[in-house]
Amino acid sequence: MDSWYSDCGRSLPWRGIEDPYRIWLSEIILQQTRVEQGRDYYHRFLDAFPTVEALAAAEEEQVLRLWQGLGYYSRARNMHAAARYIIEQCGGRFPSTYEGIRALKGVGRYTAAAIASFAFRLPYPVVDGNVYRFISRLHNITTPIGTDAAYGEFEALLLKQMDRRRPDRFNAALMDFGALQCTPRPDCGGCPFADECAALRLGVVEQRPVKMLKVSPKDCWMLYLDLRWREAGREFTVMHPREGKGIWRGLWQFPLLEWQEEPSRRCLAETATEHLGEAFGVAEPRFLPPQEALHKLTHRTLHACFFRAELPSAPPLLPPNMHIVEVDRINNIPLPRLIDRYLRGL
Ligand code: SF4
Repeated sequence: MDSWYSDCGRSLPWRGIEDPYRIWLSEIILQQTRVEQGRDYYHRFLDAFPTVEALAAAEEEQVLRLWQGLGYYSRARNMHAAARYIIEQCGGRFPSTYEGIRALKGVGRYTAAAIASFAFRLPYPVVDGNVYRFISRLHNITTPIGTDAAYGEFEALLLKQMDRRRPDRFNAALMDFGALQCTPRPDCGGCPFADECAALRLGVVEQRPVKMLKVSPKDCWMLYLDLRWREAGREFTVMHPREGKGIWRGLWQFPLLEWQEEPSRRCLAETATEHLGEAFGVAEPRFLPPQEALHKLTHRTLHACFFRAELPSAPPLLPPNMHIVEVDRINNIPLPRLIDRYLRGL
């Protein structure tokens, strides 16, 4: 495996380095993002926040803004909170034990193992999707992946085989082998493990790893109200940072109404008119044709409808949590990808 890694391993900007901050950042970005897309974000983030001190000193909005487009914003919020924790509670030193790393907000056993092994050469196996695939095939493991129990089983198996002198290389080699050779549809003919691969011998390569049955995402219908007016040649709208505990907390959005059951088109138009009257004091608004978008998240499918109302001047009322935003400045605030898509014409 080590010689395969020397010949074929991936060259990635966060490989071969020992800076735990950079390794942490790369692992958090790659949790839900492909390597190619993640690479750009990694560089952009480091340009803005080259050290844990710089990240801790940033405003949350700045951090979310840089994260925009990656989704799963809790990752960025947790990193920001953890950076502050490192500065305030750890004397500015990145924790160098597995337990210390694991105590950082948003760091689970996988990320802790990656940082511990890559930055500090501690013997913790990393079990990502690529490793699950390769190892489940090699040993024909049928435990459904994605559970704590499965992680523990794979971790224990790998720990027995790990090269304790170079856990960083051992982990990187396994991850790369799964990413490059033991792919979802692998070329087993050219695989150096073909002779010992249990799944190949049994003809079950494509059935490994065994996955948990997925819960189908819930549908949600959303009506966004984009109020527009001009003053002295500048265009304005109304937005607010989202509250609550959801994934978009802290990101800015237009006034929003939501349904768990599909509303009729007439209901949408009537609700938009009523809400503009009650909350903003706008009578008889003039709407442009609504724009619709389907937006898929892991657990929810959002059916969004944007109603843009052209107003002659600022709305007479402004609810307390709402802010007037100049349209030319929207790019400076953090937005959910759905709102960003709408502003770019969907
Ligand atoms: S033989 Fe095929 S399935 Fe088995 S480890 Fe190699 S690439 Fe993966």
